[in-house]
Amino acid sequence: MRKLREAVYTFFVRTGIARALSYFHRDKLVILCFHSMSLKDEHQFWPGVFISKEKLHELLNYLQRSHFNVISLDDAERHLNGEVQFKYPVVITVDDGWRSSITDLVPNFQAYQFPSTVYVTTYYCDHQIPVVNVLLQYWLWHKPSDAFDVEYQGQCYSFAGSVPEIVKAVETIMVSFDDEQKNDFLTAIAGALGVSDDAISSKRFHNANYEELKSAMASPLTNIQLHTHTHKLPTDSDAIHHEIQTNRQVLATQLSSEKALTHFCYPSGIWSPEHIADLQALGIRTATTLDEGLNATTEHPLKLKRNLVMNSRSLNQFIVTISGVTDTLRWMMGKTRT
Ligand SMILES: [Zn+2]
Repeated sequence: MRKLREAVYTFFVRTGIARALSYFHRDKLVILCFHSMSLKDEHQFWPGVFISKEKLHELLNYLQRSHFNVISLDDAERHLNGEVQFKYPVVITVDDGWRSSITDLVPNFQAYQFPSTVYVTTYYCDHQIPVVNVLLQYWLWHKPSDAFDVEYQGQCYSFAGSVPEIVKAVETIMVSFDDEQKNDFLTAIAGALGVSDDAISSKRFHNANYEELKSAMASPLTNIQLHTHTHKLPTDSDAIHHEIQTNRQVLATQLSSEKALTHFCYPSGIWSPEHIADLQALGIRTATTLDEGLNATTEHPLKLKRNLVMNSRSLNQFIVTISGVTDTLRWMMGKTRT
């Protein structure tokens, strides 16, 4: 099935159909969604989040030599407002603020002179520990186990069940720990599972700290924006305001940047019509989802579509997606979301 799909992507690219459809969609805004860079084997563990260096360069080289124009999110907003007109505009966004996105991914965008916007969720910037659920899933991907015991501070903790059940049980126990205890407990889990704990020391599953964020922002090509404090966006007004205002205050204080924090990314792309009025009240000017597709200038600025960049997707699939072939096929099949 995968081979057949790839043959179809190749057909659209080699016949020039993708290029022709791209011309048809030339005024539409393409927004790419990256997450983080793989420093070891994270792209094999979670190809939707971690991208390998080789795949990244394949895509960036294509963007550089193709007819697409990588522009900043601020310029994209002006394009959507009708203040300026770009042809074949592409925006690069990066979700979450993973440490390697700041230390490895963003510098690659800068090297190509491509602007990028990083949406940072601040809880794990404040707490310099690995993102617990992701690290546990990574270890259990390396060393599957449905039951194990952990010795920690003279106590024995037993875990059993599916991966989500184990992750939840570990998180529940760690709630009362401080950050140092959390790091120690995770190290003890690595020992119990028989995996290396180098994912902790190398910070491959940490968020960036504020100094790292500040040094990324030293380049005018890099924009840091909002993604909630704890990577959740409830639907009641008070909680929405709390999540976004905390995120905004922490970033404004820690980064001491003059830049307005008015661009937002829905955590995990999950949005609801109930969010819109609150986002407007909070002065949010653009908000990106994970609904796939291109954005016409008539698109609501708080419901912007994006295209997830995945390590497991080929260059031809990438070209077909950003050329609007998939959008055109969706439209032809009457599946376009209104
Ligand atoms: Zn996110």
